[in-house]
Amino acid sequence: MIVARDVPALRAALATLPRPLALVPTMGALHDGHLALLRAGQRQAASTVTSIFVNPLQFAANEDFDRYPRDDAADLARLQAAGCNVAWLPSVEAMYRPNRATAIEVGGPSEGFEGAARPGHFRGMATVVAKLLHQSSPDLVMFGEKDWQQLQVVRRMVADLDWPVEVVAVPTLRDPDGLAMSSRNRYLTPAQRTVAPGLYRVLLETAAAGLASAALAVGDTHLRTLGMTPDYLALVDADTMRPTTAPSGPARLVAAVRLGTVRLLDNVGVPP
Ligand code: AMP
Repeated sequence: MIVARDVPALRAALATLPRPLALVPTMGALHDGHLALLRAGQRQAASTVTSIFVNPLQFAANEDFDRYPRDDAADLARLQAAGCNVAWLPSVEAMYRPNRATAIEVGGPSEGFEGAARPGHFRGMATVVAKLLHQSSPDLVMFGEKDWQQLQVVRRMVADLDWPVEVVAVPTLRDPDGLAMSSRNRYLTPAQRTVAPGLYRVLLETAAAGLASAALAVGDTHLRTLGMTPDYLALVDADTMRPTTAPSGPARLVAAVRLGTVRLLDNVGVPP
């Protein structure tokens, strides 16, 4: 595995690889969910590049940029063992020039939910994903369904900018008790960790209860009973992220809750 830390080194490494190429963008602290993206990339492409970059632009001032988990040595060992071809680990300085003045603003699916809870988050995310796509020019780019709204924002950006890259969605990998894997799960106390799978259970129950808004109110109450504080529990059009009560196409039940200091995100599909 080649480890690239600046754009010329990345481009030189990628030039030697057979196409098609799949890019797996991550913020590191890799877990099996990230590796599921890499494996999906390996199935669909001849070569893979995984980026590890904790992107300061997508964290607000009050968020956990400084304490976001970082473990490059363990991440590189995992990527190497998993057969990734190139690891792309730019420093903040290699990614952003001091006089940079360009950002990507995606409307539509970025509005509401994470966009409302985290002002500037999707602008920062879209800007870095645009840069990662330009730096590596992949044929495929892998995103997890875990971050459903992020996936829709990236799809919108790629379509709107006529980007010749296929956005591939990978299903959410879960611990055996149902908790969606996440780099932030390590911040849960043992007591919170036993409660956390309740989020997925409530999502499944609410989805099974039908599309009436009463089901959302019941779900919200269940989450609070578990000691979680919901930021939102909502039924949305799966592509546009617009709230809906009578979906005409695929819909998604999306939720974010706070459990102690940890914010948990999850979502499930809703059958028509
Ligand atoms: P992150 O490092 O948290 O920014 O995530 C990088 C990518 O991995 C994103 O596309 C996430 O949606 C995806 N991802 C994170 N957790 C999971 C999971 N449990 N299952 C599948 N994909 C995931």
